[in-house]
Amino acid sequence: TDADSDDGPDAGALRTPIVAVLGHVDHGKTSLLDKIRGSAVTAGESGAITQHIGSTAVPLDVISKMAGDLVDPTDFDLPGLLFIDTPGHHSFSTLRSRGGALADIAILVVDVNDGFQPQTLEAVDILKRTATPFIVAANKVDTVPGWNPNPDEPIQVTKEKQSDRASSDLDEKLYEIIGELSDNGFSADMYWRVQNFQANVGVVPVSAETGEGVPDLLTVLMGLSQRYLKEEMSVDVGGPGVGTVLEVKEARGFGTTVDAVVYDGTVREDDQIVVGGLNGPIVTDVRALLKPKPLAEIRTEQEFERVEEVAAADGVKIAAPDLDSAMAGAPVRVVRDQDVDEVIEAVEAELADIAVSTAEEGLVVKADTLGSLEALSGTLEEHEIPVVRAEVGDVAPRDVRVAGTANEPTNRTILAFGVDVLDDARDLADQEDVNVFENDVIYQLIEDYEDHVEAIETAQQDQILDNITRPARFQILPDHTFRQSDPAVVGVEVLSGTVTRNSNVALFDGAEPERVGRMKSIQDEGEDVDEARMGDRVAVSIDGPTVGRQIEEGDELWTELPEKHAKILEQELKEDIPGDEREALGLYLEKQRNRDPFWGK
Ligand code: GDP
Repeated sequence: TDADSDDGPDAGALRTPIVAVLGHVDHGKTSLLDKIRGSAVTAGESGAITQHIGSTAVPLDVISKMAGDLVDPTDFDLPGLLFIDTPGHHSFSTLRSRGGALADIAILVVDVNDGFQPQTLEAVDILKRTATPFIVAANKVDTVPGWNPNPDEPIQVTKEKQSDRASSDLDEKLYEIIGELSDNGFSADMYWRVQNFQANVGVVPVSAETGEGVPDLLTVLMGLSQRYLKEEMSVDVGGPGVGTVLEVKEARGFGTTVDAVVYDGTVREDDQIVVGGLNGPIVTDVRALLKPKPLAEIRTEQEFERVEEVAAADGVKIAAPDLDSAMAGAPVRVVRDQDVDEVIEAVEAELADIAVSTAEEGLVVKADTLGSLEALSGTLEEHEIPVVRAEVGDVAPRDVRVAGTANEPTNRTILAFGVDVLDDARDLADQEDVNVFENDVIYQLIEDYEDHVEAIETAQQDQILDNITRPARFQILPDHTFRQSDPAVVGVEVLSGTVTRNSNVALFDGAEPERVGRMKSIQDEGEDVDEARMGDRVAVSIDGPTVGRQIEEGDELWTELPEKHAKILEQELKEDIPGDEREALGLYLEKQRNRDPFWGK
């Protein structure tokens, strides 16, 4: 290969590596991308960097200008880097290709002050699962107290110029990040100490605000790609295009279009293509290939122009009939020199690959893209949460109906990840008592669901407890007979457990408990109450006995426990009842089992 090649991304047979940016919200993903794009525009004169659909290509010569002394362009023969514009693991998982992540390499952005946060962990999980090489941008170094910014300088140069205090403050924060990476199974170090980037994750301190460390970041990305991705970057430039749908969108004058990233081969106007859709592969003909017009400014309203051909790696908007049911995250394949059935089969196989396993009974899961559906389902599986239906698309009434058929109350649930809940679906969910949880963060969604399950389980236990006779042992106080019979009214002290109304009252005289009557009411200082707890002294009226005959002052009385209740209490609720109730239960069982060792077992 011509080592001096600094042509655009179409040159040679090596394609541009695709770079994704991941990390926790507010850690600076967007700022970092903006900084890279901004400096690229400055370094490259107008027209040198090109805005693509959903991505920005930065050619090698621009990178080498940005990186200053750090990059010698003659060391490289990859054409540059293609940055995916929408940061976050959400789009990262959308961007899948056959066999894994579409991004060849990733930047994990971590705020040096905040360290690892839930979405950082989530991103690390995804990078691990997809075996994507990555580097860590330890961002916001300019916020270290006492930091004197040196805009756009390499990090070691600017770090040298800082006070000892600021420099060691930064080191401390960086080592925390290195420790977190190690806790998550990645051996890591400052990038300048890393010899083998395949075995170790390089940490690059940067500031998306001042540009410090950005030259290093680009150098490391370029070096990593060159050294370890070169083989994967060899593509058949003339071959039929293969790509991934990023978004399905209306475009004025073109109807429904798909924004796609082409990662292999070429797509031409008039090509026949097969696109993964909600109801299976869509076979259609390209009507137009659209790209944003060359731009002077980055974030202007985009205007499209037609192109005849796009080659990997590149972003493009494809206009074609019948794209309404196309799915974000699904494959796009050009049919050229092959049988259309072969290509349909290939697309079907890719879709089946993504299909998530479902159970007989479980939750309904809806997500905005195939990739996110896969990521969410994967995490649910790790949490051993069963899924009955997993689909791409907004939450519709039919999803609610499926969730409504669940037997387990905890399964009457829909998890909605990055999608809308249609109004009629929301109404139906209210009626059908189906819970819909919405979130754009997988961890949060699952945490909300698990909290909900816990609440349901607690409520269920409370309800069981409500219907179970509570154990109690109480004593008639001397000189506290207020009425002898019909009903007997006496003062009692609860020795252990909980005395409740409408329970049967028993007395152990011989071996057998003897029912003496029924607890009709309980009065505490003249007020009717439902129960009395251990230590309470209350007046109780008992229907049935006469004081002086069946019961006497000083007698120890019991709440009679039906055998079935005693069994449930002992076997299932023992941990949920207070200690004194447990004591009353134990004593009651002991008395019963003296007579019949198998009572309540
Ligand atoms: P994202 O949610 O990860 O895309 O984060 P943003 O790029 O939106 O950044 C979140 C906030 O952090 C914004 O207010 C940025 O201006 C700020 N920010 C990002 N990078 C830096 C940095 O390097 N230094 C400083 N001081 N602030 C930054």
